[in-house]
Amino acid sequence: MSLCKRRGFIFQSAEIYGGFRSTYDYGPLGVNMLRNVKNAWWRSMVQLRDDVVGIDAAVLSPPRVWEVSGHLENFTDPLVDCRQCHSRWRADKLEGPCPSCGSTDFTEARPFNLMFKTHAGPVEDEGAVAYLRPETAQGMFVNFANVLQTTRKRPPFGIAQVGKSFRNEITPQNFVFRTREFEQMEMEFFVPPDEGPRWHEYWIGERYRWYVDLGMPPERLRLRPHQADELSHYSIATSDLEFRFPWGWDELEGIANRTDYDLRHHADASGVHLDYFDPATGERYVPHVIEPAAGATRTMMAFLLAAYDEDVVTGEARTVLRLHHRLAPYQVAVLPLSKKEQLELLAREVLHLCQPHFMCDYDATQSIGRRYRRHDEIGTPWCVTVDFDSLEDRAVTVRERDTTAQVRVPVDGLVAELRRRAEQG
Ligand code: ATP
Repeated sequence: MSLCKRRGFIFQSAEIYGGFRSTYDYGPLGVNMLRNVKNAWWRSMVQLRDDVVGIDAAVLSPPRVWEVSGHLENFTDPLVDCRQCHSRWRADKLEGPCPSCGSTDFTEARPFNLMFKTHAGPVEDEGAVAYLRPETAQGMFVNFANVLQTTRKRPPFGIAQVGKSFRNEITPQNFVFRTREFEQMEMEFFVPPDEGPRWHEYWIGERYRWYVDLGMPPERLRLRPHQADELSHYSIATSDLEFRFPWGWDELEGIANRTDYDLRHHADASGVHLDYFDPATGERYVPHVIEPAAGATRTMMAFLLAAYDEDVVTGEARTVLRLHHRLAPYQVAVLPLSKKEQLELLAREVLHLCQPHFMCDYDATQSIGRRYRRHDEIGTPWCVTVDFDSLEDRAVTVRERDTTAQVRVPVDGLVAELRRRAEQG
């Protein structure tokens, strides 16, 4: 948390006013990394497939959507009050005594709906009620017919979305692990009803591989199937992908078999057909849905935790974020050895060569050792140093973050060399 603040990954929101109820702002480094997490997801889930398309649906939505989806009735957490100090807690996460005062005297648990309610338009009456979406998934269900018609996709196919969701969490905690405003990366995969279980297994495997391919150590990941009594109201089977956080195993992503629950309810309520006619078999059916639902902000936090390391290089202790280059806030730092005009001229030329291909930082102040350590600490995989010899031989030094190995590379071949390294990893 301290590194995140000090280096500009994540700030407390409205910090100059004392912060605001577990909300966070992403700073210059955090915004790059969060984008990289979302882009890596989009690349794997949409770009590299021919059976998934994307949408970007509205955050504000009418009560009808949430009534029909079951969220108005069921999207609740059990709330208890401490009778001693009157603090409120989520009963299913409470371990005996009140975390505030240690009392064990609580009220009976009652359901607390997590949806944020607001009013759309200038009149604050019941007819103007709107909700901020607590999940992005309903956007895919209510657009199912639109997407089917406009893309001519046929099951099995998916609709993906990345965007903000809002939950009025009773006890937001653990930094950005649980916040009231967060970003999700969700995909609804529509399949013939009898193929649900097979596709469920398939997506569990794909999603696990995504984290590992981006450098997550497998020993910090595990799969945990839900017990029957913890399944969401729409699910017949869910497996959580869990990460070993500093406080123990906790959810990164849920992969659920939502069956035809959502499409069937929306079709019944709206009167619009949300089914698929298969011309090959002459059959009409409501597809079943497999949903990998991940949190972008929570995932970013897990990647940061997994990447954090301290080691000793050339006799000096350093902090290093061993982030995959696809996730690092900057891939390349261009560092002129000194602020001499001629060096800076060449360094800026190198920067402009690299910028179209990589997110780059340009850093000309302090000793080169301190600049290397600064970039180790924010996870920059490659530092490119322009020194006085560079003016003679038009070559630069490329330093690799993890090994600190340095090699001399001609300026004209630099982008090709960095791209070669990126493709390897
Ligand atoms: P929990 O049981 O932890 O409240 P959930 O099982 O209700 O979460 P889902 O509805 O499955 O969560 O949401 C999918 C993903 O969205 C989660 O795995 C998580 O990564 C992310 N997510 C959910 N709630 C939050 C939150 N309050 N803050 C940050 N990320 C969240």
